[in-house]
Amino acid sequence: MAPVVDLRSDTVTRPSPAMREAMARAEVGDDVFGDDPTAKALEARTAELFGLEAGLFFPTGTQSNLAALMAHCGRGEEVIVGQDAHTYRYEGGGAAVLGSIQPQPIQNLPDGTLDLAMVEAAIKPDDSHFAITRLLALENTIGGKVIGRDYLAKAVTLAWKKGLSTHLDGARIFNAAVKLGMPVGALCAGFDTVSACLSKGLGTPAGTVLVGHRGLVDKARRIRKMLGGGMRQVGILAAAGLYALDHHVERLAEDHANAERLARGLAAAGCEVETPQTNMVFVKVAKERCAGLQEHLAAQGVIAIVSPRTRLVTHLDVDAAGVDRAVEAFAAFDPD
Ligand SMILES: *Cc1c(COP(=O)(O)O)cnc(C)c1O
Repeated sequence: MAPVVDLRSDTVTRPSPAMREAMARAEVGDDVFGDDPTAKALEARTAELFGLEAGLFFPTGTQSNLAALMAHCGRGEEVIVGQDAHTYRYEGGGAAVLGSIQPQPIQNLPDGTLDLAMVEAAIKPDDSHFAITRLLALENTIGGKVIGRDYLAKAVTLAWKKGLSTHLDGARIFNAAVKLGMPVGALCAGFDTVSACLSKGLGTPAGTVLVGHRGLVDKARRIRKMLGGGMRQVGILAAAGLYALDHHVERLAEDHANAERLARGLAAAGCEVETPQTNMVFVKVAKERCAGLQEHLAAQGVIAIVSPRTRLVTHLDVDAAGVDRAVEAFAAFDPD
């Protein structure tokens, strides 16, 4: 039987033989002592790509976001963040639990942005009743949607005028940059810190790089140690990151094309599909059919988490033939 088509997330990719080869060859040292040349090379290269001073390797994006928020905000200070943002919604409340940072969530607009008038109105005046608003945190892509440069420029300008610092959760920032045909440095200009995942579309087994101004990254390094993220011969993972920056960025366009192919195929099969912007396709499924459809797909070798708004994610390990198999499996579903 053909290999399964796993559309649950772009985190499911396995390192290719060439990536494993790069990992096996990595020069390593104890990174807590600052001795790992490969980790340092990845950090420097990523910082340069983003036009920022320094980079820091993290085991996960969650830890990178948390360390960034803690570097920006002290105890009792506040971050303005989207209601749908990963840092607010999907990180176990870590900023509040471990950072004593108060979130001020704002409803995301349908395009994924925050209404900047609402952001401005949420900034607290200097009054002892209020937490001190310190940070504006945005996300790109968010739910597969690309936030464009014009909006980001307006957002960082507002933050700058109001004395807020800025963090961008760029778990999938390379998807946004490839979609816009723009270098990540230009797209993210003005942000104080950016967290960029290597283990999503870029296909490494683990790792995220936090880039930012030197002072913030130095603070984040202390926080990373405190959070238990100081790793030793981490160059083995960093080598996968360097390999991915060389070989897996431009090809994200293939994932986007496959997402379009999937959306077109599902629409032709009668499904209600949202037009994808990057590598995520959302399809409507009647609630009472979810469990049955998920089981049917699995029997056809198509793995998906089926919900009323099912998210299907394309990635390095799904090709056009896999997409076509997924479409056929959806089309063959007979709920009765
Ligand atoms: C995946 C993801 C993260 C980090 O997730 P980890 O699984 O901890 O690496 C952060 N933000 C967004 C938007 C993500 O999609």
